[in-house]
Amino acid sequence: TAGEVAEELGYKVYCVGGFVRDLLLSYPNFDIDLVVEGEGEKLAISLAERLGGRVRIHKRFGTAVVIINDDFKIDVATARTEYYEFPAALPKVEKSSLREDLYRRDFTINTLAVALNPDRYGELIDYFGGRRDLEQKYIRILYNLSFIEDPTRIMRAIRFETRYGFTIEPDTLRLAQDAVERRMLGKLSYKRILQELILILSEPDPMPALIRMKEIGVWEYVLPDVDLDRADEGLWRRIPSVVAWFKERYHALYVKTWLVYLGAILALADQESREKFLACYPLDRQALKAVKEIEKAGMVWQEIAAARDIKSSWLDKLINGWEKESLIYLLLLVREEKIWEKIVEYLDRKEKIKLEINGHDLRILGLKPGPVYKKILDELYLLKLDGIVKDKDEEINMVK
Ligand code: ATP
Repeated sequence: TAGEVAEELGYKVYCVGGFVRDLLLSYPNFDIDLVVEGEGEKLAISLAERLGGRVRIHKRFGTAVVIINDDFKIDVATARTEYYEFPAALPKVEKSSLREDLYRRDFTINTLAVALNPDRYGELIDYFGGRRDLEQKYIRILYNLSFIEDPTRIMRAIRFETRYGFTIEPDTLRLAQDAVERRMLGKLSYKRILQELILILSEPDPMPALIRMKEIGVWEYVLPDVDLDRADEGLWRRIPSVVAWFKERYHALYVKTWLVYLGAILALADQESREKFLACYPLDRQALKAVKEIEKAGMVWQEIAAARDIKSSWLDKLINGWEKESLIYLLLLVREEKIWEKIVEYLDRKEKIKLEINGHDLRILGLKPGPVYKKILDELYLLKLDGIVKDKDEEINMVK
């Protein structure tokens, strides 16, 4: 459809980047990126009309997003057009603007494009040898100054390398090491390093990439005091399955797996370096809260393990209001089935249980309104968490 719309508008449109790469690798990818030779904004609007979606336009970047059914997104970018003095040069300009757009990218495997206009539909465009590198499993930059220009590409190279089981091509690796030695990563803002770190920690198994970062000297710039060799491999390995289990059991759609990994990494650091990290890197409030809870999780777990009788009301005092990621981390620490079951029982009850009476009922029971209401209701809630009070009648009886 994009090709037809482009044709009607007299534009050329291409599907580019990650989607084409993953298509050739048979790797799942649902993010479609289009590059338009013409006005991307106009194409996005017509495409949204045709497909029955919405458009969001980012004027500053010359990009637009078409959103269909709230979850399927198509990014539309305008290829930079160049102005030539002679109109005769026009066809050449058109051709070079896609090339120009692709040349600004990070690696050859990300420079593949597929033409979508009807007359060329499906034609693979490969200006920089991306196809060959996909076959040879190489991550290769496009020009020698690439890493100097944007050192986050070093972290991106490592991410793609470990994700696909590729290798950073030897010349590219040498240039990456060179950029690291020239301390180029030190020029990046903490925000950008954090963004790339989050992307790495969002991969299905981030550990190999972290180890590779250490090998290449990148880890120095992220968390120099954390010794990755000390990571608890067993715990680390269980993260994906415990996250998946938690999401399903508690209907939690959005769990930030990267945050669980980050917590696990920061748990390896001493107090001082952890605080240094938190002071520099701009984590949002929720992430900061989770990291702080995870910091405490080791002690909380020991306390739980040492307790003779683990009641839900007691657990509530310890971990009430914790972020999902922190609860997951706590569960990861637990190896004893009995303790695991107690925590899960608490979380299950927490999800299901609600008091049936409220302030209004207390008034009917003849109690004078005041701070005592909250106290009674809180107390009652804890009794309900422990299964001592079960229904509305029992709640009322208990108050009486
Ligand atoms: P992923 O599967 O991780 O989403 P992607 O290739 O789609 O991979 P994005 O981060 O969404 O990655 O980037 C989209 C495109 O933009 C990439 O194909 C890449 O070529 C380009 N790109 C992203 N970051 C950079 C960068 N720092 N330098 C150059 N090009 C970049």
